[in-house]
Amino acid sequence: MPALILILGDQLSPALPSLRHWQPDDHILMAEVAAEGEYVPHHQLKLVLIFSAMRHFAKALQAQGCQLHYIQYQQQVRSLLAAVQQTLAQHPELTQLRITEPGEYRLAAEMQQWSAQLGIPVDILEDDRFIASHAMFRRWASGRSQFRMEYFYREMRRYTGLLMDNQQPAGGQWNYDAENREACPANQQIPAPLSFTPDDITEQVISMVRDYFPANMGNAADFSFAVTGKDARAAFLHFVSVHLPLFGRYQDAMKQGEAYLFHSICSMYLNCGLLDARWMCLQVEQAWRAGNVPLAAAEGFIRQIIGWREYVRGLYWLQMPAYRQLNFLQANRPLPGWYWTGQTRMNCLAQAIGHTIKHAYSHHIQRLMLTGNFANLAGLSVDAVTDWYLAVYADAFEWVELPNTLGMALFADGGQLGSKPYVASGNYINKMSNYCQHCVYDVKETLGARACPFNALYWDFLARHEDKLGNNPRLQLTYQQWRRKGDNQAAIRAKAADLLIAIETL
Ligand SMILES: Cc1cc2nc3c(=O)[nH]c(=O)nc-3n(C[C@H](O)[C@H](O)[C@H](O)COP(=O)(O)OP(=O)(O)OC[C@H]3O[C@@H](n4cnc5c(N)ncnc54)[C@H](O)[C@@H]3O)c2cc1C
Ligand code: SF4
Repeated sequence: MPALILILGDQLSPALPSLRHWQPDDHILMAEVAAEGEYVPHHQLKLVLIFSAMRHFAKALQAQGCQLHYIQYQQQVRSLLAAVQQTLAQHPELTQLRITEPGEYRLAAEMQQWSAQLGIPVDILEDDRFIASHAMFRRWASGRSQFRMEYFYREMRRYTGLLMDNQQPAGGQWNYDAENREACPANQQIPAPLSFTPDDITEQVISMVRDYFPANMGNAADFSFAVTGKDARAAFLHFVSVHLPLFGRYQDAMKQGEAYLFHSICSMYLNCGLLDARWMCLQVEQAWRAGNVPLAAAEGFIRQIIGWREYVRGLYWLQMPAYRQLNFLQANRPLPGWYWTGQTRMNCLAQAIGHTIKHAYSHHIQRLMLTGNFANLAGLSVDAVTDWYLAVYADAFEWVELPNTLGMALFADGGQLGSKPYVASGNYINKMSNYCQHCVYDVKETLGARACPFNALYWDFLARHEDKLGNNPRLQLTYQQWRRKGDNQAAIRAKAADLLIAIETL
């Protein structure tokens, strides 16, 4: 039976399950539809990346002889279902639809209805570009009262054989994180990531995005990402040879004016299918075995991919749709306008949001300990914050964005993903960056007019949520410090209340 194969914008991998079954009389459909382009106000660079990478992928499939239907955004087809209906109406010989499962619960739930709506069989294949299948993650999770990434990660090391010697972790330890987490010295040279000049296809997409999404964050004309698998692999190999040796050491560091430091900038390529997770990990392992990078760097990187990335995906599918509704700390305050403009006097946040606006990127610690930390301390609305993260990063797809934001950054799942909230005062930001040296606020102060807002908000957060967090074993020392503040507690809480009233002007 000739089939219509639908390929989504985050499925741009030649090894996609639905493409592996391709027969010459099958047709392929790719569509830039309004519903997917508009459900949050995506950053302009994210839109250019996805649409241009889709158009390049379609061109490559056509060059291989596939019968391909491509609907451009300008054609204003509303939904994927409408795109499929339109194509099937033009090609009645196509009597089944084949899809690789989407990465988002909303779309997956819609697709379950498609067979009835279209009147033909719809074959939805599991996405085996991820290393842990749904069944494997469910097996790992079943019977556990608490999920912890570290234990899942060890299973994944055993399963993949990555960095294993004779069934034991290479070097004798599973995790070398203790060797990482240094601040970046002032004189450290930071090489630039590989960037790419837009070709004609990308230029057309840039002008389309500028025409149709003028109010969205960012400037499409700044686009310099890879849009093909070949270029994405070149960008990743550049990272392995140039940045990976110092990746682990400076993984948590932040520096004035530096968006990328030694990070790989590969999540956007990986998440839309231009890079393959197994291939990346093998490159990193080989670089270590060849003596080109320290074990701590290689292990740290591989842990992010087969540990954190697979773990958050597993949790997402295990817990949706209920997960989306969680709000353990009852955080409901509106998002301040400066999250969209970067116009805040808090230098650390101005830097992180500035990188976000300029590059549709900020690195993990900026997302977690700056924008995420502030959102948590200030009790910003979980819905508004998760929508913001989904909109502003080029790598943002709900399966990975939601657990990271709702679970890791906001603790809205009450500790299913992490064992304690990732909250910190200005002291942590000062230790890991040089931002405070360039700030109008004083990181050492909690109460004065120039006091760093993170300080009073930090203590107020702990006091506000003592009923829910006070018994957390990992927060006992912190609560002891809070109790020792005695008479100062009231002043700190009053300062925090003032800061929250003035939140738009901080
Ligand atoms: C609030 C918040 C929101 C986030 N939203 C996203 C998102 O929408 N999409 C996304 O891919 N990542 C997200 N992350 C995880 C992480 O911040 C990004 O993957 C990383 O910053 C991407 O930059 P990089 O490629 O330079 O990563 P590197 O620091 O070079 O890390 C290498 C790779 O490891 C993977 N990785 C690392 N940490 C995580 C993690 N916690 N979860 C999943 N994968 C991880 C990514 O694929 C990343 O490319 C979020 C983190 C937080 C705290
Ligand atoms: S002083 Fe406070 S607000 Fe300013 S950069 Fe440091 S941590 Fe951020």
